[in-house]
Amino acid sequence: MTPTKFPRIVILTGAGVSAESGLPTFRGAGGLWEGHRIEEVASPAAFRNQPELVHDFYNWRRKSLLDPAIKPNPAHHALAELEQVVGPNHLYLITQNVDDLHERAGSNQVHHLHGELLKVRCTETGEVWPWLGDLQVDTPHPSRLDLRGTLRPHIVWFGEQPFRLPDVYNRLRHCTLFIAIGTSGQVYPAAGFVQATPASCHRIELNLDDTPTSPAFQEHRRGPASELVPTLVRELKQLWAASLLSS
Ligand code: NAD
Repeated sequence: MTPTKFPRIVILTGAGVSAESGLPTFRGAGGLWEGHRIEEVASPAAFRNQPELVHDFYNWRRKSLLDPAIKPNPAHHALAELEQVVGPNHLYLITQNVDDLHERAGSNQVHHLHGELLKVRCTETGEVWPWLGDLQVDTPHPSRLDLRGTLRPHIVWFGEQPFRLPDVYNRLRHCTLFIAIGTSGQVYPAAGFVQATPASCHRIELNLDDTPTSPAFQEHRRGPASELVPTLVRELKQLWAASLLSS
C-alpha cells in the first residue's frame, strides 16, 4: 500500500473474520446444518413452514456464540483499535456477521447488515430486544400480554432486505479506502459493495483464498485474518500518525 491520504475508510467483514474465534463459516461447514441447507433454515418461507426448525437453528447458533470458549480474536481487536485511533468519522465498519465479536473487542460503531443473533424482533410491532436464551414458537411477547409467538430472530434471511443499505451506499460513494475481510464475495448485495466505491478508492481484499470479486481489488493479502488484520492496522496507524491518513 502506498502512503496516500485515506481519510474515509469502509471495512466490510464476513464470516472469515470470526472463523478463528471458533464460529464456522457457512462454506466451511459445507453450507449445511444438521443435513439442512442453510437456505432451508434461514428464509421467510422456512419460518412460515417450519418455525420450530428455524428456531432450533438459531437457538443452537445463539448457544454456540455464548459458549465461554468463543472470544474475539486479534482481527476483531485490531479493528477496534483502529476505530480508537482514527475515530468514527473516518471509519465505517460493516459486518455481515450476526455475532457480537466486534462489539466484545471494543468496536463502538458496527453496522450489522444481516442482523444480530443476540436480538429478537416482534413481527407485529417491529420492536427489537436483546435476547440470550432460546426462542420457541409460543414464546410470549416481553411486554404485551395479548401477543404470543410473534418473536423471530433479528436476522436478515435470504430474500430479505439488509438493514440500512442507503447508509452503506452513501459511505461507499465517498470512500477512499475499502477493505474486505474474510468474505466470500458470493452473498449479495455485500459482494457488490466494492463496485460501488469510486474509481479513486484504494481497495484491499484480505482472505485465505481468491474470491469471485478479487479482480475488483487492487491489493490482495492472503492468509488468516488474525494475522493479516493486525499487520494492516499497524500500517494504517503508522500512516495516520504521519498525517498521511488524515484529511
Ligand atoms: P462465507 O462463509 O460465505 O465465506 C467466508 C470467507 O471467509 C471465505 O471466502 C473464506 O475463504 C474466508 N475465510 C475463512 N476463514 C478465514 C480466515 N481465518 N481468515 C480470512 N479469511 C477466511 O461468509 P460471508 O462471505 O460472510 O457470507 C455468508 C453469510 O454467512 C453472511 O450472510 C453471514 O451473515 C453468514 N455467517 C455469519 C457468521 C457469523 O456471524 N460469525 C458465521 C457463518 C455465516
